[in-house]
Amino acid sequence: MSLQCPLCSSPKIASLRTAMKIGAAVGAAGGAARGASVALTGSQVGAAVAVGLAAGPIGITLGTVAGAILGGLAGGAGGCALGAQLGEKLDRHVLSNNLCLECGHRFNLPV
Ligand SMILES: [Zn+2]
Repeated sequence: MSLQCPLCSSPKIASLRTAMKIGAAVGAAGGAARGASVALTGSQVGAAVAVGLAAGPIGITLGTVAGAILGGLAGGAGGCALGAQLGEKLDRHVLSNNLCLECGHRFNLPV
C-alpha cells in the first residue's frame, strides 16, 4: 500500500509508530502477567495432585517455576503481537502519525 501526502501528493511519507511501540509493550506486559497467573493456577492444582501421589517437593517446585515461565513467555508473545496490531491501527488512523517528508504535513489515513 503506497501513501501519498494529501497536500502535495509526495510519496515520501514517514510513519511515526509511537502507539505501536506502546501497544506492543503494554500487550507484552499484560500477556505475560496473564500467562503467568494462568500457569501458576494450573501448577498449584498440579502440585496438590502431586502431593497426593507423594511426589517430592523439589519436583513440585521445579514444575511450578517452569510452568510459570512457559506460561509467561507464551502469554507475552501473544499479547505483544496483539498490542502492536492495535497500536499500528491507532498510529495510522487516529494519531496523525503519517508525516510528509516534503512539506511536513501530518495526517491520518481514512479508517
Ligand atoms: Zn506533503
